[in-house]
Amino acid sequence: MAFLDHVLQPPTYGWQDDNGHLVKPGKAILLQEFFSRLNLIKNRKNWLPFISWLKVLCLVPFFVLFVFKFFTVWTLLAAFVYGMIIMGTHGTVWHHRYCTHRAYRFSNNFWRFVTRHLTLNIIPEEIYVVSHHVHHAKSDKPGDPYNADGGFWYCFLADVNHQPIANDLNEADYNRISRLMVHTGVKGNSYRQYQRWGSYARPLATLITWLVNWCFWYAAFYLAGGHALACSLFAAAGVWAIGVRTFNYDGHGHGKDKQREGVDYHRDDKSINQLWPGFVAGEWHNNHHLYPKSARSGFKSYQLDTAWLYIRLLYLLGAVTSYRDDKQNFLNKYIHHNPGHSVYETVKDHTVDY
Ligand SMILES: [Zn+2]
Ligand SMILES: [Zn+2]
Repeated sequence: MAFLDHVLQPPTYGWQDDNGHLVKPGKAILLQEFFSRLNLIKNRKNWLPFISWLKVLCLVPFFVLFVFKFFTVWTLLAAFVYGMIIMGTHGTVWHHRYCTHRAYRFSNNFWRFVTRHLTLNIIPEEIYVVSHHVHHAKSDKPGDPYNADGGFWYCFLADVNHQPIANDLNEADYNRISRLMVHTGVKGNSYRQYQRWGSYARPLATLITWLVNWCFWYAAFYLAGGHALACSLFAAAGVWAIGVRTFNYDGHGHGKDKQREGVDYHRDDKSINQLWPGFVAGEWHNNHHLYPKSARSGFKSYQLDTAWLYIRLLYLLGAVTSYRDDKQNFLNKYIHHNPGHSVYETVKDHTVDY
């Protein structure tokens, strides 16, 4: 069985039925699976998705304070910019383009550290990265961890129900997980530790990273604008954490064929380019499925790509040494209809190392 077929912990309802069709459980079954896989008493190997949702829960009090105590036009504006543009762009820059697709390289670990901690620490890298490789390999097919065809709840609860790595991998497969993660700088478990915790991430290091990151940012926001600003931006991060879980369902057209002529050029799956995630986070998702390893996804003149602007800025500062940019390949092939010689055809593929 190919690595990507069994690297994720399958849900109890399975990925597909005997005829190879996607299993589409109802909301009650999905929620039952969700709470079962968050249950630490039942299985300590559930710890990483548990922590991920615990963070969301911890942001709720900040949201309440924001709405009932600190709500002004200015805090709303700050929350909007932070929760939509900064958090959104960071997700694209860090989790998506660097950790998963290795679309660019840092000149040293300092800049990697800065980029990782540029915002509140929320989504565990391991849950995002490994499952996202599976998403690209099986887009809109059974086994796709956030198959939009499964419906809203199938995607919304995916980081618990479908995205964590399998907890019964053999040593060779666990080493392949390590190879998918090592460049992120996240400290990984040995195989023996993995057998105990079911994860690549180490529990203590994960908790310390979370705590220090949040303390640093609360202090920084407080110094800049008191509790009003700090609570507003923490609330915004909470809204983002919920909102980002809806992206995969939206980004693949709710499982329907919503691709448009002259907008969506990649036709092998249901991914679509959408204005909102495009403008606030550089997630031009159909373009991205066309050129997954590109550090830029905004190819057309109106397709603002804030994540690309950050990567370019780091490149100009010397913090990024190289990146891949497929804009010219896109224009040659799909706009000028003159594929010519791809500028990357001869470059060894360093990204996929399954
Ligand atoms: Zn996709
Ligand atoms: Zn991707």
